[in-house]
Amino acid sequence: MANALAEVRAMGETVELKRYRSLASGSADVVLLFDQNLRLKYASRDTYLLDTAPADTCWKRFLDRIHTSDRMHVMQAQNKVRSTAGSAEHLEFRIATDIGTRYISGRVCNLLQDDSVQGVAFYLSDVTAQWTLDELTELHSRPWFIDRLERTNGSHREIGAMYAVLHIQLNQYHQIRRSFGNDVGQALLRAAADRLRNRLRRADPVARIGENTFGVIMEHVQSISDAEQFAANIADLMDAPFFVCGQELCATVSVGIAASQSVDGSPEDVLQAAAISVRGARPRGHSYHTTYEARAQEQAKQRLLLELDLRSALTRGEFHLVYQPIHDVQNERVAGCEALIRWIHPEKGFISPATFIPVAEEAGLINDIGEWVLHEACRQSQRWRGSGLELLKIGVNISAAQLHPEFLTVVDSVLDETGINPRCLKLEVTETSIIDSPEEATDTLLALKQRGIGLALDDFGTGFSSLSYLHRFPFDTIKIDRAFIKHLGTQESDGKDEALVKTIVGLGQNLSMSTVAEGIESEEQLAMVTSWGCDFGQGYFLARPMKAEQFSEHLRTATLG
Ligand code: C2E
Ligand code: MG
Ligand code: MG
Repeated sequence: MANALAEVRAMGETVELKRYRSLASGSADVVLLFDQNLRLKYASRDTYLLDTAPADTCWKRFLDRIHTSDRMHVMQAQNKVRSTAGSAEHLEFRIATDIGTRYISGRVCNLLQDDSVQGVAFYLSDVTAQWTLDELTELHSRPWFIDRLERTNGSHREIGAMYAVLHIQLNQYHQIRRSFGNDVGQALLRAAADRLRNRLRRADPVARIGENTFGVIMEHVQSISDAEQFAANIADLMDAPFFVCGQELCATVSVGIAASQSVDGSPEDVLQAAAISVRGARPRGHSYHTTYEARAQEQAKQRLLLELDLRSALTRGEFHLVYQPIHDVQNERVAGCEALIRWIHPEKGFISPATFIPVAEEAGLINDIGEWVLHEACRQSQRWRGSGLELLKIGVNISAAQLHPEFLTVVDSVLDETGINPRCLKLEVTETSIIDSPEEATDTLLALKQRGIGLALDDFGTGFSSLSYLHRFPFDTIKIDRAFIKHLGTQESDGKDEALVKTIVGLGQNLSMSTVAEGIESEEQLAMVTSWGCDFGQGYFLARPMKAEQFSEHLRTATLG
C-alpha cells in the first residue's frame, strides 16, 4: 500500500512537471537557469537570446548578444545576485537581432539554495512593442527611431548611399495646449501624426521623437532635393486647418532636413543636425523647411552658446534698459519714450537685442526677460513721476511668445507692484508676432486695452501688412518702420517711400490711430513727416536711446526749450 502511494505520488510529480514545462514553454516570457558555474541548466523554450549553443557556452553567447552599453549592467547584476542567497535584481537591456534591436526587461534571482532549482534564474520579457511604440500617436517611439537610424546609417554608409533625416516640429503645440488644455493638445498631436502617416508609405520609418516633434528617415535618396520636395509637401499638408475636439485649429510645422553626406559623425549627429537647422530665423504664419548645411553648424553652435549665456544673464544682472525719446512732432515736445533692452555680455561686450531677442524667444526665455523689462520700465516711469516729471507714456516691446493669457497676470502684478497708471504704458507688438495665433492674441490685446493700456503696432510695413489687422486688433498707434523713413530726402528715394508714408499716416488718421515715424535721422525727414501730418517721431536726429538719468535731463531741456 505504502509502495503504491509512492508510485502514485511519483507519477503525479511527473505529470505536474510536464505540465509546468508545457506551460512555461508556451509563455511569452523566457526563463533561463544557470548553475553555479554559469552553465545553462534549463531554458523554458528556444530563444533568440541564446540561439543554439552548447550549454557551457550559453552564458557567453547570451552576453555577446547584449548591446555593448548594457552588457556591464547585466554582468554586475548577475555577480551581485550570485553572491547573496535569495537576492534578486531588476534588469533592462537591449539585444541585437537580425530583425533589429529587442528591448528586454526582467529579473535575475539567486535560487542556488533552493533545492528544487539550484541555480541563478533569469525571468525575461521582450518589451520591444511597449518600448518602440508611442502610445499617444501610435507612431514609433524615439528609441525605435534611433535604433533604426543606426541601422540605416550602417547599411547606407557601407555602399556609399545617401539618406536624409527630417525633424518635423509642430509649432503651435505648446500655445494650443496652454489655451485649450491638454486633451486638445494631445488630439492635435494625434491628428498631425495621422496626416503624416497617411502621407507616407506603410514601411517608411516615422516616429514621434519629442513632445511635439516627429522624425522621418528617407532612405536611398538620390539628391537632397528629393527630401526638400517631400518636406515641402509635408509643410503644405500641415497648413490646412485641423479639426479637433470640435475646434478648428491652425498649426504650422518647421521641418529641418539633414542629409547623411553633409554630416560627419554618428547617426544621432545627423538627427541633431536636422533639429538644429530649424532653429534659425523662421518665417511665421506658414510651415516651412530648411536644410542643414555644414557652414550653418558653426552659427548654430554660436547660437547655442549664446542661449546658455542668456539663461544666466538675468540672474547675473547683465541686462539694463535705455530709453529713446518719442517726440510729438506737431507740438514740438517730448511725448514719451521707448524702453529698449541692452545686454552687456561679460566677455563679448554689447550684444544687440536684434541678435539675442530671437534666441531668447526660441529658447523659451523671453517670458522671464520680458517680465523683467516690463517691471523695470514701469518702475522707472514711476521714479520719473516721483521726481516731479510730467506724466509720459513709456513704450515696452512685447514678443509674440508673451502674448498668451498668462501675460495678463504678469501685467496685473506689475501694475499692482509699481503703481503705474496703465494709461502711461504702451505695449509695442509687431504684426509678425500676432500672425501665429491671431485668436489668442486678439483676446489678450483686448484684455490689455480694457485695462487702459495703450497698444502700438510696431515696425508697420515690414511684415505681412495685412490691413485687416488694423481693423481687427485694438491698436491706438501705428509705428511706421524705419525702412520707409530711411531714404526720405536722400538720393536713393524714388518717391515710393514718400507715397507709402503719406498713405500710412492717412490710414492712421482715418482709423483714429496715431502714427509714429521711426528712425528719423535728418532734419529734412523730420520736416517731411511733420508736414504730412504724422503725430510722433523717433530717431537719432531727435534723440538716441539713453540712460534713465539722461532721459530726465533731455525731458527738462526739451520741455523748457
Ligand atoms: P524696435 O522696437 O523697432 O526699436 C527701435 C530700434 O530702432 C531700436 O534698436 C533703436 O535703437 C533703433 N533706432 C531708433 N532710432 C533709430 C535711427 O534713427 N536710426 C537707426 N538706424 N536706428 C534707430 P534696438 O534697441 O537695437 O532694438 C532692436 C529691436 O529689438 C527693437 O526694435 C525691438 O524689436 C527689439 N527689442 C528691443 N528691446 C526689447 C525688449 O525689451 N523686448 C523685446 N521683446 N524686444 C526688444
Ligand atoms: Mg519697438
Ligand atoms: Mg520698431
